[in-house]
Amino acid sequence: MTLHGKHLIAGRITGDEAEGFRAWDPAEGAPLDPSFCEAGAADVAAAAEAAEAAFAAYAATEPAHRANFLERIASEIEDLGEALVERASRESGLAAGRIRGERGRTAYQLRLFAAAVREGSWVDARIERPVPERTPVPKPDLRRMNVPLGPVAVFGASNFPLAYSVAGGDTASALGAGCPVICKAHPAHPGTSEMVGRAILRAAEAEKMPDGVFSLVHGQGYEVGLGLVRHPLVQAVGFTGSLQGGRALFDAAAARPVPIPVYAEMGSVNPVFILPSALEKGPEALAEKLAGSILLGVGQFCTNPGLAFGVAGEAMETFARALSEHIRRGEPATMLHRGIRDRFCAGTDRLGAAQGVRRVAVAERAADPARTEAGGMLFRTDAQTFLANDMLAEEVFGPSSLVVVARDMAELEEVAHSLKGQLTASIHGDAEEIARHDGLVRALRRVAGRFIFNGFPTGVEVCSAMHHGGPYPATTDVRTGAVGDAALLRFVRPAAWQDFPSSLLPAELRDRNERGVRRLVDGAYSTEDVG
Ligand code: NAP
Repeated sequence: MTLHGKHLIAGRITGDEAEGFRAWDPAEGAPLDPSFCEAGAADVAAAAEAAEAAFAAYAATEPAHRANFLERIASEIEDLGEALVERASRESGLAAGRIRGERGRTAYQLRLFAAAVREGSWVDARIERPVPERTPVPKPDLRRMNVPLGPVAVFGASNFPLAYSVAGGDTASALGAGCPVICKAHPAHPGTSEMVGRAILRAAEAEKMPDGVFSLVHGQGYEVGLGLVRHPLVQAVGFTGSLQGGRALFDAAAARPVPIPVYAEMGSVNPVFILPSALEKGPEALAEKLAGSILLGVGQFCTNPGLAFGVAGEAMETFARALSEHIRRGEPATMLHRGIRDRFCAGTDRLGAAQGVRRVAVAERAADPARTEAGGMLFRTDAQTFLANDMLAEEVFGPSSLVVVARDMAELEEVAHSLKGQLTASIHGDAEEIARHDGLVRALRRVAGRFIFNGFPTGVEVCSAMHHGGPYPATTDVRTGAVGDAALLRFVRPAAWQDFPSSLLPAELRDRNERGVRRLVDGAYSTEDVG
């Protein structure tokens, strides 16, 4: 496929090459062709207007039709074959095998949402039949279900060029819910974005979806994204990326004359708490596994464990020594792009310069800046220093971690209470010991979206029971996440119909339950018709 570098707006290829920017191959330290257009306000407006024009027809499509569309997108992406793998790998520095795995996850996600949409119960239909004889006032006939919000703006992250990007969980869930999508391509992987965007358009055409159901705009400045979020026709935002980016878009959305929801999935330091019983069992083995999680994918995961806590003692020293050794031996590797590497270097410099913090391990082989490489780093401090300096609890995106040694379990609990919202928290120890430290467990449960027992945070299973989210600053909406079919609920709102004749209701609310969805009828779940 030859890339054209232009925007895809309502099925048309548009854009002015004169304003272009290029992708960058971080491993080669060289620009990649072609030049990509920079969107202006007129492009953003055209995409938003096309999305709005498509909304009514798209929202009215049969669920099975939308499910077919999502499945078709999955197949079109798979059909891109090795060309997609090669481009995504060059633009991100991620190995081909990792990209193939991510492509599988992206297709799986699309099919998961398709299955949920086809089954249909996610619309949460509720019916309360009338009681005309009730006194002093009769009870009306009330029926409620979720309805789509309208055009959704989607922003992907650079570390998942497929699974959290143009056809990632945000796009899949918004399209599944019945909302047109306008995606702002990440400037770190614009070619990958174009390939996937064109796959979505082919699927839209094959399924005869309305023009404007999907648009893709390019841009490497903040203005394009901010313009999208501020556009009055955009009704919600799905974002994956940094705290700074998510917060900027959240604030912009809140400052609109008509504020809109922003579902921003942001960074996290994913604390790992290691209780004495875990250390006694095998500090070296634990250190090896934790080092594997810290270094995995050059630390470029939102679930990277950036903090490890334990209680002072001989076993903790053995653990810290072994962890340092593994970090030293880890091979530096190419990061996603220069900006990410610059931020990693700045973050680790900040940690290294912080009072009371020691840099205890650095990768033996020096990282090669020409290949945008970074190597592992390990820092160490004590609990009181950690408690006194908020900066130590901030995400440093990349292969670095801070070991915090507490005097005793009481201090460990104090530290847990100080933590801000996290995607995950892990606790290592035997069940009896963990049960004895109820305060610590409650503190961690309170801050974390996912609570992990004797495991490590990297690796997010995509399934209905997963929750990938958490209190701020892990996300801007503690109630939701982009992984798993519950993500559909972000792009809908409840609406109720009072005393409408059955024939004028949406199919899910009619007397005859023709879609066979599970409904709450007068307080009991049922798939039966109502009389
Ligand atoms: P990023 O720099 O925030 O970029 C994400 C997108 O937001 C890009 O399109 C970017 O455009 C845009 N953006 C960033 N700042 C903006 C601003 N102030 N105004 C308007 N638009 C803005 O994120 P990244 O570096 O690609 O991704 C790494 C981060 O994502 C890490 O912090 C990681 O933890 C997080 N992440 C979270 C999850 C999760 O599920 N919670 C998953 C993956 C990654 P420009 O590039 O043009 O600025």
